[in-house]
Amino acid sequence: LLLAYDPARRLARTQVGLERALVNARMIYEILDTEPRQEDTPDAGALKVGKGDIRFEAVSFSYGPDMPVLHEVSFTAAGGKTTAIVGASGAGKSTLIALLQRFYDVDGGRIEIDGQDIAHVTKRSLRQSIAYVSQHPYLFEGTIADNIRYGRAGATDDEIRLAAEQAFADEFIRQQPDGYDTPVGESGASLSGGQRQRISIARALVRKAPILLLDEATSALDNESEARVQAALSTVMQGRTTIVIAHRLSTVVSADHIVVLDQGRLVEQGTHADLMADPNSVYARFHNLHDEAGLGLVDDTGETKKEEPQR
Ligand code: ADP
Ligand code: MG
Repeated sequence: LLLAYDPARRLARTQVGLERALVNARMIYEILDTEPRQEDTPDAGALKVGKGDIRFEAVSFSYGPDMPVLHEVSFTAAGGKTTAIVGASGAGKSTLIALLQRFYDVDGGRIEIDGQDIAHVTKRSLRQSIAYVSQHPYLFEGTIADNIRYGRAGATDDEIRLAAEQAFADEFIRQQPDGYDTPVGESGASLSGGQRQRISIARALVRKAPILLLDEATSALDNESEARVQAALSTVMQGRTTIVIAHRLSTVVSADHIVVLDQGRLVEQGTHADLMADPNSVYARFHNLHDEAGLGLVDDTGETKKEEPQR
């Protein structure tokens, strides 16, 4: 599952790396309460989320001709539970999450939320039901409070403070020169990677969305920050349907369901115990490799990441 990355292969990835960065920028804007650009189908109604079951049914997708990325992927992320997606860089993990938010439409199969095909609901209602915490939290121009309120435009000051408390961010925010009104950016608050991440988690919390998509951060957090980010994430995951692109062993092991992707195909799924029962499973080999390598998990650039203190 984990591949040795030769330089030629990495060079070939540079171009798509750039395209992916653009997609990520789009995701940031479209996840907010803005009017989606794409038209909805005439029959599109508002998505109604109850239990929050998400079903991928034989989903196939390619970004362009001759570039199949997903091949008939089927799994259910059960309502209120945590589903971890694991797989080597390029396996298609981020693409699954992009399809669920309809940044692209599937080429084959369907994605359903509580039995509703997401192709036939309004994009606005779909995205309002989803909170997304990315690997690289993005802070906008404006104050810390503004940055949390981007999660939901109508959030009151009390709701913002509560979300920050739940995200373990309230304390360091209060210590900023102007507290919640401190601008972020060059002339304002100086925030560590972990603090920025917790602000983005507070943003997700204030959104009060029933579905949480999480691209787990692997690095750039010191140990203290890492522990607090983990604690904040467990709060936000509670009672929500969570799909996490898991980089940490602890997340994978504790997930309710694990989906193993290999080159765009779902090769195994089950609980940690299910998958470890076969010592020759892709998952067991993946797990044992990481056990030996300690925290060194492979990230999206194909490089092994280590814990590094934030500048
Ligand atoms: P993962 O998240 O598992 O690392 P991705 O879903 O990001 O994998 O990518 C799966 C495949 O699709 C890779 O081969 C990647 O290079 C390609 N890919 C991802 N995004 C794009 C894009 N916007 N345009 C073209 N190819 C892409
Ligand atoms: Mg990815």
